[in-house]
Formats: sequence, C-alpha cells, structure tokens
Amino acid sequence: DYDSDLSFKELGEKMHEMNQKNAEIDMMKEMENYRKEYIGNISHELKTPLFSMQGYIETLRDGGVEDLSIRDKYLQRIDSSVERLLNIVKDLDMINRYESGQIDLKYSIFDINLLVQEIFDLLEMEGEKLAMTMQLQTTQPQLFVSADKQRISQVLINLISNSIKYANREEAQIIVSTREGTKSIHISVEDNGMGIKPENLPRIFERFFRVESSRSRKEGGSGLGLAIVKHILEAHQQTIAVESTYLSGTKFKFKLTKSTPSIKKINGISIGN
Ligand code: ADP
Repeated sequence: DYDSDLSFKELGEKMHEMNQKNAEIDMMKEMENYRKEYIGNISHELKTPLFSMQGYIETLRDGGVEDLSIRDKYLQRIDSSVERLLNIVKDLDMINRYESGQIDLKYSIFDINLLVQEIFDLLEMEGEKLAMTMQLQTTQPQLFVSADKQRISQVLINLISNSIKYANREEAQIIVSTREGTKSIHISVEDNGMGIKPENLPRIFERFFRVESSRSRKEGGSGLGLAIVKHILEAHQQTIAVESTYLSGTKFKFKLTKSTPSIKKINGISIGN
C-alpha cells in the first residue's frame, strides 16, 4: 500500500545518504593515506643522500683518511650527494608549480627533428658510454610543431635518459620516431630495455613511483621524471601513452600540434626559420 511505499522510499533515501557519507569518509581516508605516503617518500628520498654525506663528512673529520686521492674521492661523493639533493628539490618545485597551475608556456614554432638531434648530441656528450645506438626515424627531414621548446626538450631528455637508464643490454637501441598526422606530429621514444610489468604500468607516472627502487636509486633517479613529463604534456593539452613488454622493451608516445615555419620577409626575400 501507499504507506509502506513511502517508507521504502525513505529507507532508500537514508541508505543513499549513508552510502554517500561512507564514500566521503573513504575518500578522505584515501587522501590522508596518499598524503602520508607522499611525505614518507620525500623524506626517504632526502634521507639517502643526507646520510651518505654525513658518513663521508664524519670519516673526513675524524682524520682517518690520509691518502689524498681517497679524500678527493670522498669529497666528490659529497658533491654528487649535494647535486642529487638539489635535483630532487628542483624537480619537486617544478611539480608543485605545475600542480598549482603556475606554469606559463612559451610557445614557439620549431623543428622537432632538429631538437631530437640536439638532445642526442647532448646525451652523447654527457658521456653515456654504453654500447648503444640512438636513432631518429622520421617521415620528413623537418617537422614543425608549435609548443614550448624548452619544456618539450625536458620531456625528450627525461624519456631518452630513462631509455638509457633501463637499457641494460649488450646492444641497447633507442629509437625516436616522428611522423606527420593531419593536425599533429606524432612522436615516440622506444627502447629494447628491461620493459615494465603490466601491473606496474598504470603507476609509473605517479610521483616517486619506481618499479625497482634500489636500481633506479643507484642510477640517480628521483622517481619524478615521468611525473614531470606528464605535467608538461598536460599543460600542452596533450597526453602520454606507454606500451611495454616486460624484459623486451618500452615505447612512450605523445603528440604535439603541427605547425608551419613562420616566414620572415626581409627586403622582399622570404626567409623560413
Ligand atoms: P626514475 O627517476 O626512477 O627513473 P621516472 O619517473 O623517470 O623515475 O620513472 C618511474 C619508473 O618507471 C622507473 O623507476 C622505472 O621503474 C620505470 N621506467 C621508466 N622508463 C622506463 C623505461 N624506458 N624502461 C623500463 N622502465 C622504465
């Protein structure tokens, strides 16, 4: 009858309300856990180089090291710990600025192929003396995009240095491909390295997430590289995709807005850039 109908309805509403409250509590708990994990991760990241510095400084101060070359080695290690800390703080600062929307992009039109070549040269110069090949595969000699050049070079540097870091092969091969679509330029960075297990794949863009923490730490990673890549591309209204086969290789893909080089006219003569 009508009465019991109403109480059913009321019961339903009450249940709905309770479910909503529970969902809110769950979300708050989740956020709290996330915050705890985040702060835990930061302090862990900072502790490692600090403890290492403390160790070397104590040894040097106690005067136990007479051999000058060993003293030099210890000082170098302190130096690299300081650099490591500075890099972590810089990365954190960058992420914070992205997350609070404080980043203004400086758009310009540039040839992405040229940028890739410049980054290859830079990384080769930094003395990555592995047995590896870095190769650009492209459909056209020049492909122009409209984007923030400095930040896109950060994206490429982070992706290519990861490919180098996780290459771990006799013959590491890194291929950057660029091709023209209708509105976009498609870019991918592919390696034949250790790959990522499917269960870890959705988490690699999280701040501080690492698959194999000890190894990545040894390689000097902070676990922030891919989080920064994702933020930079999001600021460009783009996304990043990843495909990986465990123990066989990984491919990161993203797009940028296609453009044509601006033409400057000087004394009636057209000059492209
Ligand atoms: P990290 O400083 O640890 O390299 P990133 O944010 O750049 O931090 O990467 C997060 C994790 O994703 C890495 O620790 C690594 O486990 C995994 N990863 C990233 N790029 C690759 C790659 N090219 N091949 C295999 N694993 C990768």
